[in-house]
Amino acid sequence: MTEQEYQQQRLAVLAEAELDTLAVRAGQRRGPEGEHSEPIFTTSSYVFGSAAQAAARFAGDEPGNVYSRYTNPTVRTFEERIAALEGAEMGVATASGMAAILSTCMALLKRGDHIVCSRSVFGTTTVLLNKYLGKLGVSTTFVAPTDIEAWRAAVQPQTKMLLLETPSNPLAEIVDITALAELAKTSGSWLVVDNCFCTPALQKPLALGADIVVHSATKFLDGQGRCVGGAVVGRRAEMNEVLGFIRSCGPSMSPFNAWVFLKGLETLRLRMNAHSSNALALATWLEAQPGVERVFYSGLESHPQHALAKAQQSAFGGVLAFKVKGDKAAAWRFIDATRLVSITANLGDAKTTIVHPATTTHGRLTQEERDQAGISDNLIRVAVGLEDIADLQKDMQRGLDAL
Ligand SMILES: *Cc1c(COP(=O)(O)O)cnc(C)c1O
Repeated sequence: MTEQEYQQQRLAVLAEAELDTLAVRAGQRRGPEGEHSEPIFTTSSYVFGSAAQAAARFAGDEPGNVYSRYTNPTVRTFEERIAALEGAEMGVATASGMAAILSTCMALLKRGDHIVCSRSVFGTTTVLLNKYLGKLGVSTTFVAPTDIEAWRAAVQPQTKMLLLETPSNPLAEIVDITALAELAKTSGSWLVVDNCFCTPALQKPLALGADIVVHSATKFLDGQGRCVGGAVVGRRAEMNEVLGFIRSCGPSMSPFNAWVFLKGLETLRLRMNAHSSNALALATWLEAQPGVERVFYSGLESHPQHALAKAQQSAFGGVLAFKVKGDKAAAWRFIDATRLVSITANLGDAKTTIVHPATTTHGRLTQEERDQAGISDNLIRVAVGLEDIADLQKDMQRGLDAL
């Protein structure tokens, strides 16, 4: 059997494989050295067999590597793997999650276009849309993410993109992807979903009708807080545009980071299930504590959109938030009394993190914007890691005792 026949048969096997198999195997090619694990190709450029081959590669007449800003074998393995996991035709890796969102917008939008965006998106996404895309003549209207009528009312003839995250950060609002896919279709816009919080292990936006998924690989895809990176996946036509932007403007992923993310993806479902069961246990426990006013986690039956979360996701993810009884000082006392969890704004890590959103992640918003978004002074966010749940509960008890 020739190498080419083997590769083709292998691709056919993977085309029918399930998510856990794809997470371990998709995108890997058998190399000439017979290595079993994915190698890191730390090379900026590639040599050609002849001047004619160089010309053909540069002209795009012959497939193959030219320069690592365009393509790199380790990065390509990551791109193919994340695309396979999301059920997409093609993936493009980026230097960060923000670069994924920027590249998608820059590749697909032009001056005069309009975006409708959930107002509960990552804070820096809001800055990107308002300050930088705004400067280029792309305008954005922000809407309450759970109000489908508000999305519909915000659509204009120039609207080209609907952008959302679900569950939202930190209040776990669930956005109905199927309903918005319908609106995107009737309004001729792309539905772009930031799937950072669920990952394809828990939620497949493309299968629900989204056009494009963006990722901050920095979070759960890595899973151990080691590297910054991102990805965009979708149909080949749009992804080639995104790749074109990356080639010309430069926010490509480093091969070392791609390798780290590949190692993260191998355990994605195991980790997401463990994050989810720890978070559900902690949310349930917190809800029963007298010092806690309210818990925000879509896995709780008290969550107003629990049914939608159950329909759209296979589990509820690792991030929860809660309001303590008291003011900002009480929330700070709670946080400062913990001894196990880390006080940091990162999430999607094996190590549990705790943060006070009003003075950190949402500190750049005005008081009015925070009120509108429901980010009160007594709110605390916990990104639940993989530690033993009993130890996490004891640490949260230290917080409660300090109230
Ligand atoms: C962190 C994050 C981003 C930005 O990703 P970076 O890798 O930090 O650039 C975008 N969206 C969501 C939901 C995030 O949590």
